[in-house]
Amino acid sequence: MAKIIHYRDKCIGCNICFEMQPEYWRISRKDGKATLVNGKLKKDTTILSIPDDDIEKSKDTATHCPVKIIKVFE
Ligand code: SF4
Repeated sequence: MAKIIHYRDKCIGCNICFEMQPEYWRISRKDGKATLVNGKLKKDTTILSIPDDDIEKSKDTATHCPVKIIKVFE
């Protein structure tokens, strides 16, 4: 199964990931950074397994992140 990995510390809270995939992303009211919904914390990353059907859209979202902190692995 594919995974999205988010390096949250470097998030600048631009909102693009939420606009592109609201099913996966929220912007935290606490610190204004993006949060991967239902993701699992592992050290300084958040990881979420996604269905193969969402790989292309998730890669597109990752491409649009201005600080390149979203990675998609197949
Ligand atoms: S697109 Fe990148 S920088 Fe912008 S809110 Fe999402 S994770 Fe943060």
